[in-house]
Order: sequence, then structure tokens, then C-alpha cells
Amino acid sequence: MIKKWRDIIFDHKISLRERMFRLVTCISMIALIFILILGRFTANMFIMAGSIAYMYLVMRISIRKECINTGATAIVVLLLLLFPVVFFAGGGIYGGVPEWFVLCFIYISITLKGKRMAVFFLLCTIETLVCYYVAFHYPEFVLPNTTGQAYFDSARSVILAGALTSVLLLFQNHLYEEENQVTIQQKKEIEELNETENHFFSSMSHEIRTPINTIIGLNEMILRGDISDDLAENARNIQGASKMLLTLINDILDLSKIKSGKMEIVNVSYETGELFSEIVNMIWIKAREKGLEFRLHVDPSIPSMLCGDEVRIKQVLINLLNNAVKYTKEGSVTLSVRCERLGLNRVRVWYSVEDTGQGVKKENIPYIFDAFKRVDEKKNRHIEGTGLGLSIVRQLVELMGGKISVNSVYMNGSTFLVMLEQDIISEKELGAFTLASRTKVREGEQYKHSFEAPDAHLLVVDDNEMNLMVVSKLLSDTKIQIDTASSGNECLRLTQYQHYDCILMDHLMPEMDGIECLHAIHSQPGGLCQTVPVIALTANAGSDNQQLYRKEGFSGYLAKPISGALLEAAVMSILPRELVQLSEEASQSEIGKDVLIFEQAKRISLMVTTDSVCDLPDSLKKEFGIYVCPYYICTEQGRFLDNSELLADEMLAHMAEGGQGFSQPPDVEDYERFFAQRLTEAQNVIHITMAKHVSNGYHNAVEAAKSFENVTVVDSGHLSSSMGLSVLYAAYMAENHASREEVVGTVKRLRRYISSAFIIDNTNAMCRAGQISRNVQILCDALLLHPVIVLRKSRMTVGSMELGSFHHVIKGYVRKALKNARNIDRRILFITYAGMDEKSLEYIQELVRQYCPFERVYLQKASSAIASNCGPGSFGLLFMKKNEASISLSEMSRGDGR
Ligand code: ADP
Repeated sequence: MIKKWRDIIFDHKISLRERMFRLVTCISMIALIFILILGRFTANMFIMAGSIAYMYLVMRISIRKECINTGATAIVVLLLLLFPVVFFAGGGIYGGVPEWFVLCFIYISITLKGKRMAVFFLLCTIETLVCYYVAFHYPEFVLPNTTGQAYFDSARSVILAGALTSVLLLFQNHLYEEENQVTIQQKKEIEELNETENHFFSSMSHEIRTPINTIIGLNEMILRGDISDDLAENARNIQGASKMLLTLINDILDLSKIKSGKMEIVNVSYETGELFSEIVNMIWIKAREKGLEFRLHVDPSIPSMLCGDEVRIKQVLINLLNNAVKYTKEGSVTLSVRCERLGLNRVRVWYSVEDTGQGVKKENIPYIFDAFKRVDEKKNRHIEGTGLGLSIVRQLVELMGGKISVNSVYMNGSTFLVMLEQDIISEKELGAFTLASRTKVREGEQYKHSFEAPDAHLLVVDDNEMNLMVVSKLLSDTKIQIDTASSGNECLRLTQYQHYDCILMDHLMPEMDGIECLHAIHSQPGGLCQTVPVIALTANAGSDNQQLYRKEGFSGYLAKPISGALLEAAVMSILPRELVQLSEEASQSEIGKDVLIFEQAKRISLMVTTDSVCDLPDSLKKEFGIYVCPYYICTEQGRFLDNSELLADEMLAHMAEGGQGFSQPPDVEDYERFFAQRLTEAQNVIHITMAKHVSNGYHNAVEAAKSFENVTVVDSGHLSSSMGLSVLYAAYMAENHASREEVVGTVKRLRRYISSAFIIDNTNAMCRAGQISRNVQILCDALLLHPVIVLRKSRMTVGSMELGSFHHVIKGYVRKALKNARNIDRRILFITYAGMDEKSLEYIQELVRQYCPFERVYLQKASSAIASNCGPGSFGLLFMKKNEASISLSEMSRGDGR
């Protein structure tokens, strides 16, 4: 019996309510039984026994009749009737009954629901208060207990009520844990189901794409031939239907990705003009074919480069424009773009697609964004569509953090409005963007091959014979010599003895797949194609392809079905230039969503950048590809960019006239923009800053670098050309393929070996820039003292003081700076100065030659930012001390040192 009850209580198939009802009622009955057993023999006993029998019966009947709510209510009523009687008969508050009131509350809250529970809860509260009130004011109603009995009853009740409540809580806990387990299990099952669904969709897409590839490819060959109008019409219809099928597959795939949370938004910097051109080129001709006017209004103030998911923005706009053309019989379709500035480097862009078509009925507007929902079916039955487009559009816009809305008047037209916020990459405005300036006429376009490369050798690897044939045929007009291999092993046999200029490799092949084959080619002993670019051919659509193929080392990828034009474009961009002869009419083919030749192939792997205060000659910066982020100089006239807007000489002239000026590092936003731009040219950036305790530049750059994965900021520990020395060192290492860690480690180590010491003529500028106190300035001026500023542990300190006229102290400074000639790396020296005359510079050079001649000496004018801090008549001898990590710096100075 107990086991049966236990099984019932833990049985998941029985509703939780019923199980709780059984448990709580049993507990209450057990409590009553205990009271009965342990109690004294009074009239109460009969009432109790009757109550237990009543409860048992009610429970059985209500479970059998499935009316638990009524059963529970009947038991609560009994308890409410019973408790006043036992309360007054059992000694009032000097007995064991008050604890049972607590149990009664628990019973009500567990077994009853909603309003009924609230009512009985209230009744129980009132009853408790009334019992206490009566017992207090009319003690004669209470059957008194002796003190001993009162203690005994109370202790018994406390223990019983406590034990029973604990059982209840333990059970609840157990239930909670069990339910938790079930939820976790269910979640796992749902994830597995999702995974299976995704797998199904992607393999379905793969399976369908392969035959469509053959259909589209061979159909294109038919269209290229000299055929009758009838045949051409049929072939064009086949082309249209295949493309429709393809759109459908892509939509389903996109939808399943969004649903499973796998759709990733990849923000990249892109050119707005390019984006609009591509969109216009795709839509304009469709509108014209339908006799519609296509209008374009682009706000000229929109920045020419933004950061956003270019592919998805294009997908959204093309979808809306396609719909506008589809659902408009006459009139026009208009694409308008306007932008609104949000703070320094962010814009809110509004794209609106307006048509004069059939519009959407008001009652249907809420449903048009639902998946698989086509509204006004009767009217639209002749228009192709699946009802997926707008659903994907809305979800993509939301994923990009934007908003979409629609405004439509039935029979009059619709306007879809999309808002997206994006970062500005280039402040340059796009300017006038007109339709005439951008559209490319494609009407009646007859296929013309874009290039010929009869000397080029190409290998196509695919296990599907049809695919091999399609690619060979599509490229036949380019006269490329094409070999084919139907497996990875066959490919390796060919690459062992034959050099190819490009390899097209299918991804999914039995035995050895495309990725394994690529790795085998790269490491093939004696193979002739170890460094040949390989393009992946894939029937798996999806944005994750890009990452996968790039990571594995492919030079690009092409999604099947492959169109002739895209295939030619991809092969042309990979083949060595000298093998390609462009055909006369050929325009640069566009590379669209389905083909991607990785930018990475063209991006350098590691770039070293720094701030404008590095004081390096332009020739060296150019030679080592060192980009600089400009500092600012603030004067009474405003804020200027270091060097480009304010030259050092202008700055010094301004100071000579009593003007003020001080330098300011780039803001975090400036650095963010700078890094984003550099990352379009390099995969990794190391940015070397001025000593971190001298300016805020380091902290701002570190803050900005947090927004990027591949930007590392290092404190040079120095400034001016001594910082430039460490930048040169790092750039040299990067050029020689050192890793990011190696370069960063070396720059940190070099801090100790670089000598940074400047001597200044007078301390006015330093005092104004807050580098020294006013008292020190007065002292220096009065005693004709010239401080020598040195950098230690990224801090600027006064190293020593030279006494006398400036001309006199130059000698002392040079001698001291070069006194340990044996420890000086004599290959390169910067004499960096601000506001020095020719004669003084000659004198300094003469002294250098005398004390410690260098192989290369650069006379470098300090940047305006540095000049503003040290003032005129300052210079420093900046060089490196010998160190174990010495590399050939003379190689670096291939430039124009004297
Ligand atoms: P479909 O494949 O049917 O075009 P969409 O999701 O793109 O699917 O659109 C859903 C429905 O919204 C369409 O069936 C159509 O009734 C309506 N619709 C979308 N765009 C327009 C428009 N520009 N003008 C009128 N109706 C539209």
C-alpha cells in the first residue's frame, strides 16, 4: 500500500496537482492519526476518527471522479469546522492546536487555486482571530489543560507539524529537481532536433544545388550558342525557374539559421556608393522590363564609408525592391536613402522603398512579416512568391539592431522604411549619386568572355562528372588549358608532376574531401602546386563558409550553382596577370555574394602603426608602411592636426609671438576609426604609443583596441624619434614575418636599450605644458640652467642640469650622452630638434662625429606636437644601446640618412 502510494506520488504521468493533493491530505491524516494515538481519551477522539474517515473517503472519491478541486474544498471545509472545536476542547492556546492552524493554511495554499484559495485563506485567518479573541475574552469556553498537559500537547504538535512540513518541503524540493532534470533533458532534445533540422536543411540545400548547377550551367551554354528565338525563350524560362528555386532554397536556409540563432551579423567597413551601385544594377533593369520608372534619391551627405553587414543590408533592400517591382503594375519604384548624424562617428540611416502598386489591405498589414504568409492570395495568385521574404527581412533588420515599418494604402502603393545605425569609417561625404552615373546597361546582353588565357593551366577537382563538365564548358571560351580530377587522390597525382596556375576544388568529396586535399597539396613532397591558389567550390551556402575556407587556407570560394560570369571573374582575379589577356569589351566583372576572393589574400598579416609624435622621416615611414595616427595641437585659434594642419615651424612662430599651444592625444573614437581603417589592409595591427605616463595616448588607444580582436597596443616607453626607433625595429620584424607576440615582446624589451635624452634652451614651453613647475622654471631662467629631460620607466624626469649659455652646454650634453661609446649601437642616430638654426645643427653633428661617429645620422625635425611641449632650441640625441636582440638596423636605414 505504502509502495503503491509512493509510486503514485512520484509518477510523472499523474498531474502534479493530484500528487500534491494526495500527499498533503495523507500528511494531514497522519497528523490526525498521531494526535489520536498520543492523545487523551476524550470526546474529541470520536470527532477526530470521524474526520480521518471523512478525509479518506473524500480523497478517494474525488480522485476517482477527477474532481480534485471539489475534494480539496470539502476537506478544507472540514478542517475549518474541526479546528475551533478541538481548539476550545484542547486547552486553547495552552494546548497543541495553534500549530494545526498553521498546517491548515499550508493545506489551503497547496491544494486550492485562484479565488477559492484566497477566500478560504481569508476564512481561515478570520477563524483563527475569532478563536483567539473568544479564548481571551471568554476563557470559560476553553476546556482548561493542566500545565503538564499543555506542555505535552504543545511539544507534540510542534514536532508533528514541523516534521510534516519538512516532509512536504523535501517532496517539493525533490519535485523541483526532477522537473529541472526533465527541462534540461528536453532542452537537450530540442537542441538536437534543431541541429538535425539544420543539418537536414543544409544537406537538402547541398543536394539540390548540385543538380541546379548542372541545369543552370548547361542552360547558359545553350543561351551562349546561336539558337532560334523559340529555343532562347525556353532557355530563359529554364534560367528564371532555376533561379527562383535557388532563391527558395536560400530563403529556407536563412530562415532555419535565424531560427537556430546561427545567423551571424558580420560588420565590415564598406563603401556606400558601391552598395547602392550594386543594388541599382540589380533592380533597375527589372523595373524597366515591367515598364516601371525607377527613381533613386540618395542623401549626398551620407558618409562614403560605413561599418555594417553589407551583405545583409543588400539582401534586405533587394528583397524590398524586388517586392515593390513584383507588386506594382504601373507607375514607379523609388529607393530613398537619408542619414542623420548621431554623435561623433555614428549615423542613423533611413532606407525607404516606395512603390505605386497594389498596396496591402489595412487588416493584412500585421501579417505580412509572418513566415509563409502571403496576403490577398486571390489577387496575388499569378505572382510568384513563398511568403518568406518579408519575414527574413524583418528578422535580419532586427538582428542588425534596426527597425522596419510599413505604410501602405490599398490600391495606392506601399512604403517600407528601414532604419539602421552604423559607425562611420570615412567622414568623406558620398556626394551626388545619380542613377545615370551608376547604372550599367545590361539589356539584351549577349555573352562575351571577359578574358583569354591560353597559356594558363587550371585544374578542376570534383567527384561529380557533371560539375567537371559544367566548369570546363563555362570556361571554354577563355581558352584556359583545363585538366580535371574526380578525386583528391587523382588531384595529388596530377599536382605531383604538373604546375597549375589555379585549382578549383570541390569541398565535399568521398574519401578525401577538398580541405584535406588542399592541405595535402600544400605539404606534398616535391609537389609542383604547393603555393598555387586554390578556390573552394561549394554547394553549402552560408556566411560561415567564408570563415571556414579562409581559416583552412583557400584563396576564395565559389558557391554553386556557378554562373559563367562569376566563375570567369574569380579565375581572372586569381590567375597571374601576365597570363591574362582582357577582351576588348570586357568590363571588370562584378563579384557578388556567391563568389568571394578573400581580401585576406591581399591583406598583410601584421602591420605596425604609431602616433604622429614618432618623429620618423617620411621616407622611412613609407618604406616600412608605417601609418601614424595624428596628435592634436590646441592653440587659441582652435585644435589642429599634428603636422598636417599645423607645421612645427608655424607652431614655433606662433609661440615666439607669445601664443600658447599644447598637444593632445587622439581621442578613443579617433583611435577606433584609425584601427578600423588599418584593419582593411592588415589582419593584425600593433600600435606603438608614446610613453604611457607622459600622455593619455596609450590609455585611449588601449580603450579603442578593446573594440577589435586583432589590435595590440604597446607602450614604447619613449617619445619622439626614440619611440620612432622602436617602431622601426617592430616594423622591420613584421616585414620579416615575426609573430605578433615576438614583436610585442621585443618592443617591451627595447625600452631599456633606447636612450632618450633631450636638452632644452628655455623652460617656458615645458612649464606652460605642465611638464615642470613654475618655481623650477624661475630657478632655471635665473641661473641659466638648461634641464636635460630623460625618459625612465615611461615617465619624463629631469635627468641633469647644464649650466651656461645654450651654445656652451650643447657640448657638455653631447659628450655626456655619448660618453659610453663602447655600449652604443652605432648604426643609427636621430638628432631630433625643434627651432634650431643650421649652424647649431652643424656644430652638433661635428661633436657627434668627434665623440662617437654613427653609420647613419638622421636630422629630424620634431613634430608640431613635440615642438609645442619643448619649445624652440631643443634637441635630443636618440639612439639604441647595444643589446642581445640587435638586428641589422643598418638594413632598416635603407633610406636617406646623412
Ligand atoms: P512573397 O514571396 O509572397 O512576396 P513576402 O514575405 O515578400 O512574400 O511578402 C509577403 C506578402 O506581403 C506578399 O505576399 C504580398 O501580399 C505583400 N507585399 C509585400 N510587399 C508588397 C508590396 N510592395 N506591395 C504590396 N504587397 C506587398
